[in-house]
Amino acid sequence: MSSADTATDYHYPEKILQKLIRFDTTNPPGNEKACIDYIDDLLKKNGIESVLITKDPGRPNLIARLKGSGTAPPLLMYGHADVVTTENQIWRHPPFEGKITDGFIWGRGALDMKGTIAMMAAALIRAKAENLKPAGDIVFAVLSDEESGGNFGARYLVENYPEQFSGIRYAIGEFGACAMYVGRQKFYPIQVSEKQICWIEVTIKGPGGHGSVPLKKQRHVQNGTIHLQNQLLKLSPAYHKRSPTNDSDHCFCHANACGTDPAPAAQPGSD
Ligand SMILES: [Zn+2]
Repeated sequence: MSSADTATDYHYPEKILQKLIRFDTTNPPGNEKACIDYIDDLLKKNGIESVLITKDPGRPNLIARLKGSGTAPPLLMYGHADVVTTENQIWRHPPFEGKITDGFIWGRGALDMKGTIAMMAAALIRAKAENLKPAGDIVFAVLSDEESGGNFGARYLVENYPEQFSGIRYAIGEFGACAMYVGRQKFYPIQVSEKQICWIEVTIKGPGGHGSVPLKKQRHVQNGTIHLQNQLLKLSPAYHKRSPTNDSDHCFCHANACGTDPAPAAQPGSD
């Protein structure tokens, strides 16, 4: 470990991020072990216990826990160590060097989501160094295999080790966080409720046919595929004058409306 990997690591999350980017964890195949071992070593060096839970030896999952006083439910901080491919892409800077240019760290995973892991690790190390006693446990999970199904990561953990997440009511994961400007105001947006899935099984009845010879609509008979298409279109936000929204959307729109001056555009380094 370098001199940055000392008790003051939390002062330098950017150095942690640079190191994380330099592990090529493109998924598939992932190969997250070296990256997650680095985080494991970093935490242990700073006095934080962690465990590695693996389905595949090359694809571990790390879970660390900072004990709280037990007066509140545990809080989960979650990140994934794998990244999506850079194949056949043109990059201004090499994707696995973690180069700093004009104040931005460049590299695959800088945003999604090694940057967040670096910040979370730094926060946890700082909490430990300053003897913070949170109301509830802080659970820090760094997982493999988020970008390609989660069978070695999140799914494996929740199906086989649900006790690791017992009592957790709130979690911080991806995305948001990248600074953006509206007028003169700087915002750090928060994304909520990503990747909730609602599976629906639908049966459409009607005469079949070939796509090249569509059936003309008759009075009470319609090709099943066309009927399905029309129903799916009704689910599209473009079909509605207004798409469904929630409190966070309202807050965000209101905040945006408050800014009127031209402002510098948000410039995240890269994905
Ligand atoms: Zn992600």
